[in-house]
Amino acid sequence: MTICRFLTEVSGRLAASATLYTDPSDPKFREANRRWSDIGVKTPGAILQVAVEDDAVTAVRAAHTTHTPFVPVCGGHSAWSNIGSDGFVLDFSTLKCIEIDDRTHEVRVAGGVLMKELSTALSNAGRCTALGNGNPVGVIPYCLGGGISVATGLMGFGCDNILSAKVILADGQVVHTDVTSHPDLFWGLKGAGQHLGLVLEIKLKTYPLSIYGSPDGRHWIGNFIYPLEKAAEVCKAMESLMSDTENLTAGHLMVMAPPPAFNPMIMVAPHYFGDIRDAPQTFQPLQDLGPVLSSEKTPLVPNLSDHLDKPCEKGDFKSFNLAGLQDFRTDNFLEVIETFKELLQSCPDAGASAYIVEWHSRAADIPKPALDSAWSHHDVYIWA
Ligand SMILES: Cc1cc2nc3c(=O)[nH]c(=O)nc-3n(C[C@H](O)[C@H](O)[C@H](O)COP(=O)(O)OP(=O)(O)OC[C@H]3O[C@@H](n4cnc5c(N)ncnc54)[C@H](O)[C@@H]3O)c2cc1C
Repeated sequence: MTICRFLTEVSGRLAASATLYTDPSDPKFREANRRWSDIGVKTPGAILQVAVEDDAVTAVRAAHTTHTPFVPVCGGHSAWSNIGSDGFVLDFSTLKCIEIDDRTHEVRVAGGVLMKELSTALSNAGRCTALGNGNPVGVIPYCLGGGISVATGLMGFGCDNILSAKVILADGQVVHTDVTSHPDLFWGLKGAGQHLGLVLEIKLKTYPLSIYGSPDGRHWIGNFIYPLEKAAEVCKAMESLMSDTENLTAGHLMVMAPPPAFNPMIMVAPHYFGDIRDAPQTFQPLQDLGPVLSSEKTPLVPNLSDHLDKPCEKGDFKSFNLAGLQDFRTDNFLEVIETFKELLQSCPDAGASAYIVEWHSRAADIPKPALDSAWSHHDVYIWA
């Protein structure tokens, strides 16, 4: 088997603190193989947890020589960091580095750094960047794949903020890429980067926390819950909110029927980027609709996504799909609600699912990327 040849090839050439798991009955092997979703999870021939960058270079070169397939894993939240017994998993979760340049404020992110880890380190330095909504998602794969977040309207997509990258190519060659060095590779990494090489590190642009609208980055987040009967009115209010070009907002509109009661409901969770005191007025139309429950909070940036920790946990059979929308239309959303209701009747467990629309403000000053890239969704403001 090629995996045996691979193991022989790397034997004695990895850092002493690198860990190689080869026994699927070992609890540590099973732990390392846990993914966000158990759908289609395979058992690899080996899992290599790298200790230093050279371990990854050695592994890629050995895989190239022995023709052994492998997949990298960072946060384990995609469906495809997964391979069968003929291949191995190259696990970066044990190699993490965050370095913020005091002068340029750029941040170097290496290995398996997760969203919350970077957000916390940046926030401690008074900075932030365009990070997404899932605390345990890997920063490098998120940025390589586009990187959509509630902060898109403020800082652009994750990939727009990549300034350079260090990449292992398929033959094991390590290259530095940016706008002048290997520019084609750099163009592709920004949006399609999960398919072009193994990225050891990226350098990202950062912003002062005040970009969120207050000196320490706190901003207003609301939560409004309505019965389904209010759907048409809520959608009409959302239509104008999402197309508002005056106020910088973002957030989620959801239809769901959470356990244990499985009562269908509509939830709106808007963010307001500006003076916190102006937020209630912006969302007054939602308040006027008489939500059954409403609340507000002003968390620090690293805590923005803490409420999503449960859905971000690993294990169980989950999947999600995402598509960009041209615009948000009440009629279409009402159709989704009808479909959801039918689904709940035929399959009550469907209440554990949600249909979510994420929007980013269309305000005129949304940052345009300085560079062209493989990410082709810069004109998409609404995702579902
Ligand atoms: C709960 C949840 C919340 C999410 N929230 C957001 C969000 O807010 N915004 C958003 O845009 N996306 C979001 N996503 C999607 C997520 O960004 C992508 O699935 C991302 O690829 C996951 O990264 P990971 O490190 O966690 O996953 P992994 O499965 O570890 O890695 C994903 C894939 O990236 C590639 N990869 C991993 N490491 C490297 C590397 N070093 N070099 C090159 N390729 C590599 C591999 O192909 C791997 O299969 C979310 C997903 C989930 C499940």
